[in-house]
Amino acid sequence: MKLIMLGAPGAGKGTQAEILAKKLDVPTISTGNILRAAVKAGTPIGLKAKSFMDAGALVPDDVIIGIVAEALQGPECAKGYILDGVPRTIPQAEAMEEQGVQIDFAVDLEVDDDTIVERMSGRRTCPACGASYHVINNPPKQEGVCDQCGGALTIRADDAPETVKNRLDTYHKQTEPLIAFYQERGKLKTVANQPTIQATTAEIYKALGI
Ligand code: AMP
Repeated sequence: MKLIMLGAPGAGKGTQAEILAKKLDVPTISTGNILRAAVKAGTPIGLKAKSFMDAGALVPDDVIIGIVAEALQGPECAKGYILDGVPRTIPQAEAMEEQGVQIDFAVDLEVDDDTIVERMSGRRTCPACGASYHVINNPPKQEGVCDQCGGALTIRADDAPETVKNRLDTYHKQTEPLIAFYQERGKLKTVANQPTIQATTAEIYKALGI
């Protein structure tokens, strides 16, 4: 199964992508995680991406298109994958089509803006492995410690309230048009926000027939 997770920042794409990846036994490709690792390592891509990320803007399409093309070549992607946070613009989606990337479905997680802002304020992430938590909805077993790798959890710099507003504006302007893009191709599965992570997962399974 080849899937794209669509939705606003903080809609739960990463969390649901990890759950789906385990269920389907395919890898998750998160451009956000790849970029954060590149920033941390100080690579040329990281140096280029940092100022955009800090401002809550999108990293230029050419950088992203290169990252995705490389990631999808990995042998672990042969039987499927889940794209988390990419494509985020129409040019990215078109470039992927031109590269022959054929997805089965784009899953759109619908969450209203007020809920997004509230969720981002409680988000904690592991800089070591990229795992994501929420202080109330999805707390780690031990406060401040990653369940998966034992890393110290942090608040992402771009989850600061002013940056969240920019990220939401960016989402509405540049990413939301992808909903119509995948609808036109008959690939769209819309999942309305549910009160819990488990309930949202159940809706996704239903939408995908798995
Ligand atoms: P995320 O973890 O998916 O919320 O991504 C964090 C930040 O990385 C975004 O706010 C963007 O600055 C950048 N980013 C991640 N994925 C993309 C993408 N597909 N296109 C452009 N920028 C991206």
